[in-house]
Amino acid sequence: MDETREVAVADERSIGDVRNQVNKIQNLMKDLMKNGEHYGIIPGTGTKPTLLKAGAEKLCFAFRLAPEFEIKQTDLATGHREIQVITTLRNMATGAVVGQGLGSCSTMESKYRWRKLSRVCPKCGQEAIIKGKEDYGGGWVCFKKKGGCGTKFPDAAPEIIGQPEGRIENDDIADSYNTVLKMAKKRSIVDATITACAASDIFTQDVEDMVPNTVKDGAVDQSDYEPVIEKPKAADPLDATRNEIKAEIARFVALSGAEFEGVSYFTDDEKAFYKTKIAAVNEAARAEKDIAKGLEMKLREIKILNSAISEELDKRKGNTELSDAMRDALKDKTKQKELY
Ligand SMILES: [Zn+2]
Repeated sequence: MDETREVAVADERSIGDVRNQVNKIQNLMKDLMKNGEHYGIIPGTGTKPTLLKAGAEKLCFAFRLAPEFEIKQTDLATGHREIQVITTLRNMATGAVVGQGLGSCSTMESKYRWRKLSRVCPKCGQEAIIKGKEDYGGGWVCFKKKGGCGTKFPDAAPEIIGQPEGRIENDDIADSYNTVLKMAKKRSIVDATITACAASDIFTQDVEDMVPNTVKDGAVDQSDYEPVIEKPKAADPLDATRNEIKAEIARFVALSGAEFEGVSYFTDDEKAFYKTKIAAVNEAARAEKDIAKGLEMKLREIKILNSAISEELDKRKGNTELSDAMRDALKDKTKQKELY
């Protein structure tokens, strides 16, 4: 082996930490975190799961992180309000700050700002007009379950279709204050947890805002604000997952093989460990009988591994944990400039 390429392990604990972190998140996801409860896949956002509040709390518990919240309230015009929450996560044992996250929410967001303008029954005056089911002859019905009188109207009834439909400003903004505070807090703790656990390659956050929002009669229903969870598909889009795996493998090769001036950032031992990890993931994926599940698992675990390697690489590039060999290579400041 070429001596100059041999880089000593800068800090024995760091590689152990990386391994522990990878294993901990992997095991948590497998054993404790449930799809749809602690994380979920939002339709149309790829395969990266969204970390939900319950999942963030679980990770905080597992990593012994205690949250502290700092809440800032800004009163806006016409009764609107914006809430900003800064979450600071501290190590329970040492009190050291491990991560921070920011989350904000405002009653100006469309789901709180507007309420749906419903058509009014010309007979009883209730906002209870719904489209009649085709099986029952179509048309319009003043729906009894919405407090209506049950009268039916034909499809073309001018007294119904002549009424404007759409949205109006919600006149009960104050009803949303508490929901907006909860949302800001939730976004904040999820953000902080992803940062503290260096899990941004595994989880995404807060994309529920990308799900088209339906205003239901202006009612504040908590379920409106939770992401729609897509059940894992078993059949067709497997090629998309395979392509993502290919991309992640390419990223793995680039990350673990990263060099500066011909000196590798990782030791041969570390590289060997990473390769063992990949081999184990491959084997586990092959052993999984459900191909879709196997591929998903493989993708997820390679992402977790890449996340850990990427974090470690950043640390070493940031000069914080350089080995002697790396330090020698970095001595020339002009070369250092070229790197950054
Ligand atoms: Zn009616």
